[in-house]
Amino acid sequence: MNYKNLQDLIRDVPDFPQEGISYKDITTLLKDPTGLKEAIGAMLKPFEGVGVELVVGIESRGFILATPMAIELGCGFIPVRKPGKLPAETLRLDYDLEYGTDAVEIHADAIEPGQKILVVDDVLATGGTLAATCRLVEKLGGEIVGISVLAELGFLQGRNLLSGYKLESTIVY
Ligand code: AMP
Repeated sequence: MNYKNLQDLIRDVPDFPQEGISYKDITTLLKDPTGLKEAIGAMLKPFEGVGVELVVGIESRGFILATPMAIELGCGFIPVRKPGKLPAETLRLDYDLEYGTDAVEIHADAIEPGQKILVVDDVLATGGTLAATCRLVEKLGGEIVGISVLAELGFLQGRNLLSGYKLESTIVY
């Protein structure tokens, strides 16, 4: 399967969750056994052999992709979640959305200083969520070796918020 075929497995849902948004629905890719395997392999490829020690996945679709990547790399998985979901002591970071603000949290003891971290999410849109996640990881002393996303909405230029990181997107719209 090539990346064009992977892209064909992602369903565009117009006007979800609000008018004017073309939502990239990856559930149609996830249910396809070949598509799922190829997507995980493609997201991993640029980060093989770079010594990743932990994979950080962003709630909630980032979890689905990050966990098999962590298993494949032989390392552990760390969740970054929306506020109020993680049970132990957390570190929180608020960030701006187009309208309003949002926040992400990580367990305060999730990362040891100097650990090599790969950050994973499904879709890079404006980049706010990934940028906030990277700041959380770095506040804990983690060293970000890269960011891997399945799909990048290139026209939103979210990549600009993430300059300085090795950012790899399997599919670019
Ligand atoms: P952002 O912070 O704008 O980069 O948004 C990233 C988060 O929102 C990711 O976790 C995505 O899952 C989700 N997201 C944003 N836009 C879309 C979209 N058009 N289709 C699917 N998911 C999206």
